Amino acid sequence: MSEPNLDQYEVFAVRYATRMAPAHDWFIGASPDEPARRMDYFVWVVRNSSRTIVLDTGHSAEVAAKRGRDYLRSPVDGVRALGIDPAKVEQVVLSHMHWDHVGNTTQFPSATFCIQASEMAFYTGGAVRHGRFRRSIETEDIVNLVRANYDGRLRFNEGDEELAPGVSLHLVGGHTIGSQIMRVKTARGWVVLASDATHSYDEIEQQRPFPTLHNLEEMCKGWETVNRLADSPAHVIPGHDALVMERYPAIGPGEPLIVRLA
Ligand SMILES: [Zn+2]
Repeated sequence: MSEPNLDQYEVFAVRYATRMAPAHDWFIGASPDEPARRMDYFVWVVRNSSRTIVLDTGHSAEVAAKRGRDYLRSPVDGVRALGIDPAKVEQVVLSHMHWDHVGNTTQFPSATFCIQASEMAFYTGGAVRHGRFRRSIETEDIVNLVRANYDGRLRFNEGDEELAPGVSLHLVGGHTIGSQIMRVKTARGWVVLASDATHSYDEIEQQRPFPTLHNLEEMCKGWETVNRLADSPAHVIPGHDALVMERYPAIGPGEPLIVRLA
């Protein structure tokens, strides 16, 4: 038997919600003639025989109902469907603090949450007096992360950092002040889980900015960083594109909810 590669991982996208989104929700300056596209909501799982890392924690059924998203199942149950006990997951990475990425954290009671220090500072600071920033967050999610911090369960990244052999986190900003992406070594090469550094394939390939943003120049530089860290455009995994469910093989029967990315 050969030794397992402990710096190499399997990667899964776990779809948990969806909606039809008009083009102007995807791109600044979209034409009214452009068709709506299906926007999917994901969390991601990176694992090998010695380690499991969950990227983002999605949102709850209650928040989906409030915000008009079609909830397919809890992303925590999606993680369970991969044979992982969420109560035992020790490493969770949060790409950024928007409502669709940092719900459900209380369902990972053993986890340390890795987040960029600038992101936590921003969403617990004065900027959220502006309604435009506040509308992208759920207060309870932020409070839960403050509690986790006081329990010693937040790990603050500042910039780029190796999380584990074969897994690194990279600050890109742009979409939010402290948005980070994850680079993972896999059997097919270096894959980048971009989360909302690019919501869709078209965003990064056609350089079409997403309407919710912190800094446009950093968003553009973030696309460069994603492309530099991925082995090819086919190694880039956007954060909300329904095409991910078509381009990768489904795990399990019925309507695809989990695909294997590598
Ligand atoms: Zn998002």
